[in-house]
Amino acid sequence: MNLLCKVINDPENLMNIINWTVPFLLGLLSSFIIDFIRNIIKRKRKKKFVEIYLTKTILPEIPELEKAYKSIRERINNFSLIHLKIPVFESFNSKVFNGISPTEYYEIFGENYTTLNEIITTTEFISENLPLKTDQRYYDYINSHLIEKNKIGDTEHEKTCPTCIDHRNLINGIIDIRIDELNKLKQKILKLIN
Ligand SMILES: [Zn+2]
Repeated sequence: MNLLCKVINDPENLMNIINWTVPFLLGLLSSFIIDFIRNIIKRKRKKKFVEIYLTKTILPEIPELEKAYKSIRERINNFSLIHLKIPVFESFNSKVFNGISPTEYYEIFGENYTTLNEIITTTEFISENLPLKTDQRYYDYINSHLIEKNKIGDTEHEKTCPTCIDHRNLINGIIDIRIDELNKLKQKILKLIN
C-alpha cells in the first residue's frame, strides 16, 4: 500500500501511469462503440434481408398458391378430366430463415418477433402441404377406391357414392383451410413489414 502511495505521489510515475492507462481506456471505449455500431448495421442488414425475402419471394407466391388450390377444387367438384399443370412452388419455403437465430430475430424485430415466428411456422407448414399434395391425396384415395369397387372411370358413382362424397368434402374443407391460412399469412407479412 505504502509502495503504491509512493508510486502515485511521485509526479513522474503518475504521468507514466496516465500515459499508459488513458490510451488503453480510450481504445477500449472506441472498440465498444465500433462493436455497437457494427451490431446495429448487422441487425439492419438482417432485417432488410428478411423483409426482402418476404416481399419478393413469399408474398407474390400467395395468390398463385390460392389460384392453384382453387383450380384443384374446381376440377374435383366438376369431375373434370382436364390435365392441370400445378406449379411446384419450389421457392416457397422457410429454409432461409434458419440462417438467423431466434434471439437475433428478437433483437431485430422486438415485440413483432411473435408475428415473424408465426410467419415462419405457417410458411413451413404450407410448404410441406402444397397444392400438388392435396391434389394427390384426393386422386390417390379415389382411384384406389374406384379400383376396389370396380368402378374405374364411373363419374356417376363418384357423384352419388357416400364414401366418394365424404372424401370430396374432406378435400374441399382442407382447401378452405389452406386458403384461409394463406390470407392470414399475407396479413401477418403486411403487418410485419409496414
Ligand atoms: Zn365411391
